[in-house]
Amino acid sequence: MIKSNFHTHTYFCDGKDSPEDMVIAAMAKGFTVLGFSGHGQMPIENDFAMTAKTEPLYRKEILRLKKKYSGKIKIFCGAELDYFNVPSDFKYDYIIGSVHYVFKDGHYIPVDLTADDVVDAVECLYGGDFESYADDYFRMECEVVKKTGADIIGHIDLISKFFEIKAFHYADRYFHAAEKCVKKLASYNIPFEINTGAMARGYRTDPYPSREILGMIKKYNGKIIISSDCHDKNHLDYAFDKAVNLAVMCGFSEHGVITEKGIEYIPF
Ligand SMILES: [Zn+2]
Ligand SMILES: [Zn+2]
Repeated sequence: MIKSNFHTHTYFCDGKDSPEDMVIAAMAKGFTVLGFSGHGQMPIENDFAMTAKTEPLYRKEILRLKKKYSGKIKIFCGAELDYFNVPSDFKYDYIIGSVHYVFKDGHYIPVDLTADDVVDAVECLYGGDFESYADDYFRMECEVVKKTGADIIGHIDLISKFFEIKAFHYADRYFHAAEKCVKKLASYNIPFEINTGAMARGYRTDPYPSREILGMIKKYNGKIIISSDCHDKNHLDYAFDKAVNLAVMCGFSEHGVITEKGIEYIPF
């Protein structure tokens, strides 16, 4: 496997570390390539995304590091854009497209902030019916490539983040909604992420997507890319061994790596 991560957050958005500290940590781990994916600006109040002030600084710093470490490690300047992103004119090296909010009856429900927020929102806005909430989430997820121009599909089933610590769980209706979404998104021919971010933060013991959803991605000839959704330089390759095992178990034999020529697929 080529040691790499393309879903990386720094202190320019909601990450802990400076980009340069992350580059140094990546090189120490034997990475030959690293992609940064600062959260693009949002039209709604939040505490995770870059702002009109910080986004240009982020780009400038990543470009500086690109030059400084050239020949040692390849660096890409990407962004993670939300479904509700503020469009940007800047041409990033790549875009991760993600859904972080479900919009319901005038409310933006943050799907991955805290389990209690989700429980309260499902109770108040869906009468406690988690599956209806999941239907809405996957309906939005189906549109995420169109909305963001993504090159990579970020955490397709982010709403399973709290399944291990709250009463929510996988159900037939959930998988039905997920499969419709996988089928649609697979037609774009861009990779789906296997994401270990929730493991690094102690919410899950397995990566997402679940084994069942990865099986669907395989069924519709989808590709995968492995990422740690990293917010801490110590977690750049967190549980990648587990992600690879899961991928192999589901029939995948290669993973996506960003290159100057686009995404290439390399055997594990
Ligand atoms: Zn995300
Ligand atoms: Zn992220």
